[in-house]
Amino acid sequence: MWALTALLAVLAVAVVVAERDQVAPLDRPWATWWTLAAMFAISEVFVVHVPRVTSALSHSLREIPTAFGLLLLTPSQYMIAVIVGTGAALLFVVRQRGMKLAFNLAHFGFEAALAITIYRALGVDEPLGLPGWLAVLFAVVVASAAGAPLTDFAIFLTGDGFSRAAVLRGLVTNSFSAVANCSVAILSLLLATRQPVALVLVAVVAGLLFLVLRANAGLAARYSRLEALYRVVGELTRAGEADLTHSAQTVLREAKLLAGTRRAELYVLPGPARSGPHGTVIDDTLHTERLDAARLPEHVREALAGRAVSTTQSPSAAGPAGATAAMAAPLWHDGELWGALVVAEPLFATARFDSEDLRMFETFTAHAVVTLHNARLTDDLRGEVAARDHEARHDALTGLPNWREFLTILARHRAGADAHATASAGGAVLLLALHDFREINEALGHRAGDQALIEIGRRLRQANSGPVARLGGDQFAVLLPESATTSEAESRARELLSHIRRPIPVAGTSVVISATAGLARVTGNDNGEEALAQADNAMWQARSTADGVHTYVAEPEGDLTRRLRLAVDLAPALDAGELEVWYQPKADARTGAIGSVEALLRWKHPTYGFVAPPKIVMLAERTGQMRRLTDYVLAAALAQANAWAQGGRCLGVAVNISTHDLHDTTFPATVRRLLAQGTTPAEVLTLEITEGGVMRDPERCLAVLDELAALGVGLSVDDFGTGYSSLAYLDRLPVHEVKIDRSFVTRLEAHPQDTTVIKSTVDLGHALGLRVVAEGVESADVQQRLARLGCDVVQGYHIGRPAPAQDLADLLDIPADRRTLAEEQVADIHALARRSTVWTT
Ligand code: C2E
Ligand code: CA
Ligand code: CA
Repeated sequence: MWALTALLAVLAVAVVVAERDQVAPLDRPWATWWTLAAMFAISEVFVVHVPRVTSALSHSLREIPTAFGLLLLTPSQYMIAVIVGTGAALLFVVRQRGMKLAFNLAHFGFEAALAITIYRALGVDEPLGLPGWLAVLFAVVVASAAGAPLTDFAIFLTGDGFSRAAVLRGLVTNSFSAVANCSVAILSLLLATRQPVALVLVAVVAGLLFLVLRANAGLAARYSRLEALYRVVGELTRAGEADLTHSAQTVLREAKLLAGTRRAELYVLPGPARSGPHGTVIDDTLHTERLDAARLPEHVREALAGRAVSTTQSPSAAGPAGATAAMAAPLWHDGELWGALVVAEPLFATARFDSEDLRMFETFTAHAVVTLHNARLTDDLRGEVAARDHEARHDALTGLPNWREFLTILARHRAGADAHATASAGGAVLLLALHDFREINEALGHRAGDQALIEIGRRLRQANSGPVARLGGDQFAVLLPESATTSEAESRARELLSHIRRPIPVAGTSVVISATAGLARVTGNDNGEEALAQADNAMWQARSTADGVHTYVAEPEGDLTRRLRLAVDLAPALDAGELEVWYQPKADARTGAIGSVEALLRWKHPTYGFVAPPKIVMLAERTGQMRRLTDYVLAAALAQANAWAQGGRCLGVAVNISTHDLHDTTFPATVRRLLAQGTTPAEVLTLEITEGGVMRDPERCLAVLDELAALGVGLSVDDFGTGYSSLAYLDRLPVHEVKIDRSFVTRLEAHPQDTTVIKSTVDLGHALGLRVVAEGVESADVQQRLARLGCDVVQGYHIGRPAPAQDLADLLDIPADRRTLAEEQVADIHALARRSTVWTT
């Protein structure tokens, strides 16, 4: 720009120097450099701007003094008049400074020099003759036509855009006004010599011309605004589908284009439906800032108060010099004020925002807010879709991934492991099942249960770097991505179990929840579901391990066939009476006197040998023979009790029953029938029920339990302390005895000081009027300790191992000939067992 300015200035000066000896073609006394300078100044002030989107056309009367200057002044006088006149107008009225001013002056100087050169080159003899008119016209039109593109070029150089159409349009309009202005100038000179009064007519015509031009400019401006608005609104409508950022970008870009400004800003007020608690300012580069209410420019404040305003000058708000005007309009939607849209720094320093501009801007804003609102809606919708998707893949309570998402995580993990060629170290899947969780829900309420689940989820996530999922209910899954070996994974599992076991504060109290963990290795070629299924399998087995952790090992072919074989053989074995019932004595803790026995099932399979009782129970449950099994044991135990009674020894017998039995409303009738077959009173029989089993569905069990209690049968809570101990329910159950679980008694052996659980159970039991039994007593020392702690009855290897009835004779001190059941009694039992098959297959 400076180079161009300098070039133009040098050319202007060169021409003046070259033509310095020339005289003025005409001589008029009023024509001095300063009268013409004044005319130049006036013509520069009364300029009609026709704003366009990227450029502005200006009409002026400048060619009138130009023509005068050519005809009435010497070249140097003329140049001085141009520079001084326009310079003063630009400097003091238009307030141009710096490069812009320098360029404009050089530009006008160049135009003047060009006009002088052309006019002199044409060598006119008679300035006011026809050839003289034509020479002036030609010089002025060509000079101004040559000057106009220079302005466009300068605009292009300053980076404000350039359009060929605009240049062409400028050229044509300029030439027309140049011809008109020149004609007026020559006409006035002619009239001034012949009929000076007629100059008034010329002044009238010139004034009208100016007014017409200005009106036309106004019309053109309005037309171009409408056109722009039309285009911009179309643009906005198209942007309607876009997201908020995109829409904001479009709105800001179009606002700039429409108002012809360099800057546009979107002020968004905070509001209930807004994204954040603070307002934001977004500018057209999408730079976003917190809205600082204390430092808002006045026009923005006005707009945010709901009023549209335009300013002519906003020097403090706009950074760069030359920022002269701004418009701000509020964004209203549905009677709610969203914020404001602001445009500032017009491309043309001379441009002013009038009321028409402001109205147009408000119209635009009204459209913009709809676009933004729609975008916000689509944004919200999209957010909702994302949230739904999240919901579908996550557990609502804990926010953890759910089963489905966990499978995806597993798949991704396996893909990642493959990619890193670490298929061997594929990690492990850990499945965790909480114990007796339903009881917490039932005893303390679902809110408490939920709290506990959330806390457990939190602990697992905190203690584990890998993903944690809740598979539903009381099951969690954890991916141990780094565990390379089984023992490593198992120790991690034990660690996680210990985190779960820490007391959890819920509902004003605290609960201790234990869990079992099943592990399965993630290998290269299985899918996630298989690993989960294996972990699930392992988890079931983990229930019978000491630490509650088990890793899945593929069941050997033999194990599977064995299990199937046993399931198939159980029913015929019951039929044939191949299952035996052994008895384990229970003794008075202080005196050691044996008052009762517990009946325990024994099955020696011809091929596989002894089958563990819990396994028999599981097989019976799975093959629908549980009731039959219970009846079988019950019949044998009662018959044995009868036999002992007949031998002169009244021994109590305890029989284990499963939860399954307690759900069967016909069970009490069977018990009554079996009791009726003998002569022993109902009090001889005690039924051992597991704590967890009853608590799982107390209401359902309660009716059966009440009926059994009404028969006079004793009820005992077995394995007390392993489940979730709901003291409230213990009080409500019609039980007579609690059996402290073997694990606590075993612990007493290892840690003699650790008596808290036993002591409190004893106290609790006694407070409820219950007999307290301790099982698993393996030494005299432990028996003594238990006696001191207040236990009533002890049971365990120290007192006696489970054994067939006849082997207990010595222990029970029964006359030898009455020690066991008579042959026919055994046959009766078997017959009874067969009869009871009506319930099963
Ligand atoms: P339980 O009711 O807790 O029975 C006590 C178990 O502890 C018996 O195991 C017994 O042999 C064992 N035991 C007794 N004293 C000691 C000791 O001092 N140290 C150790 N380490 N163990 C001792 P068993 O006979 O293998 O029975 C296991 C479980 O199977 C029983 O646990 C019971 O829940 C179930 N069960 C056994 N027979 C029946 C039955 O006829 N019906 C039902 N429904 N379940 C039965
Ligand atoms: Ca038992
Ligand atoms: Ca037990």
